[in-house]
Parts: sequence; C-alpha cells; structure tokens
Amino acid sequence: ANQRYLNRTKNSEVRHKAAQQFMPGGVTRFTTFHRPYPVTIIRAEGPELHDADGNRYLDFINNYGSLIHGHAHPTIVRLVQRAVESASAVSASIPEQMELAQLLCKRVASVEQIRFCNSGTEATMFAIRAARAFTGKSGFIKMEGGYHGLHDAVEFSISPPLVTGERKNTLEPIPTSSGISHNLARDIYIAPFNDTHAIENILLEKAQEIAAIIVEPVMGVAGIIPPLPGYLAELRRLADKYGVLLIFDEVQTLRLHPGGAQGLYHVEADLTAMAKIIGGGFPVGAFGGRADIMSVFDPNQPGHVSHGGTFSGNNITMTAGIASMQLLDKEAIDRLEALSSRLEKGLSHVIQKYNIPAAITRVGSMLNVHFTKLPPIDYTTAHATSKELGTLVHLELMNYGIFASPRGTWYLSTAMADSHIDETISGFSEVMQKISRVI
Ligand code: PMP
Repeated sequence: ANQRYLNRTKNSEVRHKAAQQFMPGGVTRFTTFHRPYPVTIIRAEGPELHDADGNRYLDFINNYGSLIHGHAHPTIVRLVQRAVESASAVSASIPEQMELAQLLCKRVASVEQIRFCNSGTEATMFAIRAARAFTGKSGFIKMEGGYHGLHDAVEFSISPPLVTGERKNTLEPIPTSSGISHNLARDIYIAPFNDTHAIENILLEKAQEIAAIIVEPVMGVAGIIPPLPGYLAELRRLADKYGVLLIFDEVQTLRLHPGGAQGLYHVEADLTAMAKIIGGGFPVGAFGGRADIMSVFDPNQPGHVSHGGTFSGNNITMTAGIASMQLLDKEAIDRLEALSSRLEKGLSHVIQKYNIPAAITRVGSMLNVHFTKLPPIDYTTAHATSKELGTLVHLELMNYGIFASPRGTWYLSTAMADSHIDETISGFSEVMQKISRVI
C-alpha cells in the first residue's frame, strides 16, 4: 500500500467504504476503479480537480478524453445554462441537432450524414448494425486490444491472454467480460493492429461473410498506439478490394485534427463512430458516413434499421457539443499540439535522466507512458508493460497532484497552459527519482 496516498485521502477512503454498500465495488464505472480506492472529487474547474480531502490535481484524464476544454468551460457553462432554462429534452426535432450535424459533416470529409446517440458504445453498435444492414453480411474484423465500448459484439479480445509463436492466423475471439455469449464469436475475426497481412489473410478466406473492418485509427485504450505509415491506407485498399466496409472508431481520435484522424492521415472511412468531445462534456455519441449507407436509417424506407434513444440529440448535449466543436478550431488544436509536445519532451528527458525502462507514445494531445523498452505497435507489445511499475507510478503521481490514468494515458485540454505542463514535468521528475531507487 502507498502510505502517503492513504494519509492524503482519508475522506475519500471513508466515502469509498460507504459507497461499497450501495454500488458493487463502490464505483459505477470499472474505469474509475483502482486500488486501494479512487478519490472522491468534489469540484473541478478548468484543468483542476479538488478531492474530498482538499487535494488539488491537474487533470490529465479529462474524463477519458471527453473534456477537451477542461472542466466547466465558461462559454459552455453559459450556453448550457441557457439551454436548461429554455427546454428539457423534447421528443421532436430541435435546431441544435441540425446545427451540430452540419458542423460534424463539414469537419469530417467522409461523413455525409450523421445520427446522434448517447455514448461511444452506442455509436459503434449502430455503425456495425448499419454495415450489416447495408452489406447483408454479419461478420466483422476487429483488432486485438481494440476498444469500441461495452456492447456484446465488441467485448471480444480487448485484453486477451497473450498468444505467442505462430499467432498471426490463429487469433481466436475471446470474450473480455463474463456474461458475453460465446456464440457471438462466430461473427468476429481478430487481427493484430498494424498488421495488414493478417487482415488480408482473413479476407481471402472469409470476405463473403464479413460486413466491415472496425478500427481505432490510433489505438486508445490499448495505450495510444499510432498506425504505422501506410497502415490505414492499406486497410482502405483491402476493404475496397474485398467488398467490406471500413469503420473508423474516432471516439478518441476526433481531437487530433479538425477532420479527425481521417483528416490527419488522409484516409477516408465508410462509417465513423464519434463520442466524447462532440458533446462538450455531456453524454454523447454519433455515427455517420456515406449517405448511401446512412440511408438504411431513413424511416421512409421499408425495412429501415432501428435507431432511437430517449436522450439522443437532447438539447443540453447538442448545445454543449456545438460550443465544444466551435472552440476546437485549427488554432486550438495547434496549441494542444504545442502543449503536448512540450509535455512529451519533458517526460522523455526525465525518463532518460533516471534511466527508467519506459517509452512514450504520443499523437497530438493523447500520450501514453509505457513501462516497456520500445514504444509498442500493437496489443502484444503494449501488454509487455510492467503493471507493478504502472500502479506504483499512478499513485505516486497522484501524491504529486498529477491525475493521469492508471494505465498511463494522458489527455490534454485547452484549459492548460505551459505553466501547468512545467509543473507536471517537475512532479513527474520527483516521482521518477523515487522510482529509480526502488527498481
Ligand atoms: N470507442 C473508443 C475508441 C473509446 O475509447 C471509447 C471510450 N473510452 C468507446 C468507444 C466507448 O465510449 P463510451 O464510453 O462513451 O461508451
């Protein structure tokens, strides 16, 4: 146990114990759970969090990348306050839906039409459903370690046991969670990320059964793993060659460029799943793409695909989303890149100085510290990270007021300034100095 963490977070511990009576494990998201217990946050503003014991943290999780403008951004707060007063969610059209739809279609070149839902989970669920309806096929390829939310179809091979040796053609889909039907595995084909041969091998044999390839252009949950040069373009080529659709899960990567990862890497998807930043901090998801594919949702068409949702396209989310996307112009993304590059340089310098066996991966304002010798390129190489070191560093960083995810992922926000980055590098340096004495 980290004694300093325990001493600093006594009120959080009391609250966590109380919460255990009413919520399994004392939490309501597995992603907020870590040992010995997560802190309870009382207030958050801009880049800062304040916990139940009065500790301040700089927030580098930003609700897993959804708060690209930090907490309680004044413009978003003002507009949302007005929206709350003007209506609650209505079961009719509202102008804000059209406005956010138009904004997103203008930004992401391949997205001609879009629909809103309430989470990234729903976004990938409906994107896959659309691909199946359009192609009349039900199989799909997903990457080993790829994360697309929590619906049954994609809860396979997110953190499977490592396969070594003759592995490339033999990756079995493995349910990540208990409670997932093994029968669903017959629709799922698993390939390592950054390996186009594995994809082509699957397609050569099974293209007639496969509706789509779903991929995060930069792997997020697996540890911010960038695509190798040409990888995404080759996926595009293979999808066209074998008559399957290409779905980009841009739930995390939309922040990288005004046109998302598609704009950054100049590759167009057929369907795109979005969430997080497009809701300005409120629950959101969206899926969009080619108009001919999206027409499967048109209620005028017989046999159209079901998509609804009581809170889909609600006025609070739409209002915050419009503001969030307008604030995230090219200039804002360039500023994030500068902050993030400054952070990467600082952290790398510290890692070298203390000779820590760590590698950093970064794309734009997403960064990951891996306790591996080399930067990972797929699930297997990312999995080689030292979990013990990761846990130790995570809690120590919190002791120094740095709130990064337990798996070592950092997301920056436009609420940050150079001074926050420099403060963070100093804290990281103290932590690494300590760590270097115990490893
Ligand atoms: N896809 C990706 C790439 C994600 O990172 C996430 C969330 N971390 C999801 C889908 C699911 O989004 P949500 O948590 O909003 O359901």
